[in-house]
Amino acid sequence: FSSTTPIKATLFPGDGIGPEIAESVKQVFTAADVNMDWDEQFVGTEVDPRTNSFLTWENLESVRKNKVGLKGPMATPIGKGHRSLNLTLRKELNLYANVRPCYSLPGYKTRYDDVDLITIRENTEGEYSGLEHQVVKGVVESLKIITRKASMRVAEYAFLYAKTHGRKKVSAIHKANIMQKTDGLFLQCCDEVAKKYPEIYYEKVVIDNCCMMLVKNPALFDVLVMPNLYGDIISDLCAGLVGGLGLTPSMNIGEDGIALAEAVHGSAPDIAGKNLANPTALLLSGVMMLRHLKLNKQAEQIHSAIINTIAEGKYRTADLGGTSTTTDFTKAICDHL
Ligand code: NAD
Repeated sequence: FSSTTPIKATLFPGDGIGPEIAESVKQVFTAADVNMDWDEQFVGTEVDPRTNSFLTWENLESVRKNKVGLKGPMATPIGKGHRSLNLTLRKELNLYANVRPCYSLPGYKTRYDDVDLITIRENTEGEYSGLEHQVVKGVVESLKIITRKASMRVAEYAFLYAKTHGRKKVSAIHKANIMQKTDGLFLQCCDEVAKKYPEIYYEKVVIDNCCMMLVKNPALFDVLVMPNLYGDIISDLCAGLVGGLGLTPSMNIGEDGIALAEAVHGSAPDIAGKNLANPTALLLSGVMMLRHLKLNKQAEQIHSAIINTIAEGKYRTADLGGTSTTTDFTKAICDHL
């Protein structure tokens, strides 16, 4: 891409703090001279029968067409009976791997300053298959689905990621001692793929032990690959190691080359509409999107501006102990650019 060719990408501002932090991304990208043509998409107000969700067919088509996008958080009302927006996106677009880098930010002190790991979460099945029902009154059942196809696909992605990003080790996280068939199959697939990558150190770690090791010494880990539910929990744990949910980005990798970046956090209803949200996680997700598009120069410029603004310490949002508003913090990043 040259700076004169606009890059078409889908943008879901999302719910809660979503529109505030999406605005921040737009401003920072403009300041960095990234020539974006955002295809803004808004979720419908009633269920679209073609998707059985508030996500419309047009929303999905936009991502299918553009192949790349940035997504703000989407709220899921608890127990309202309709399909979760995030689950619909992951299923319908076959977003099979969720890649979440988690690293210590220079200049922002936490308990550790050497965290540099990547969690890769299987994104389409496991406990999140959406198959729950009541057996009899007082007894409910939830089905955990693990397939060879989805497990191979995410294991292959994890090892390839490790190889192409100069990573040394892949840890498969599981509970196969208890869930012998489901997690057992997941592990079998990881074992199989690991054999094709003898240069990458491969280990299997039980999830409970993994949590203990992560909080004790996160530097023990490099790339972690795991089924859906474990990935959801472990990646929030990892966010906590480096300063919280306001900081951690992610990228959903789909079939047919689709890449949809999103912050790890949710819609933060407690601070929505108050100009208090930290836009860093969505901005860094935008940086991942730019790297995916091979716009490395702009990606590095924006990345440095964010890191320098936080390190300088003058403008920080409340989650990082500061008093800046979202707009002030965004302006400081633009000034750094
Ligand atoms: P949450 O991530 O929205 O909030 C957890 C805590 O972190 C809150 O105190 C919030 O204020 C804080 N926080 C999160 N992002 C922040 C930011 N950028 N800056 C400053 N503080 C931030 O989690 P929740 O409250 O459990 O979920 C709220 C809603 O979001 C739910 O409807 C949930 O389903 C949805 N959700 C969506 C996604 C997604 O779209 N990928 C992910 C998680 C949760």
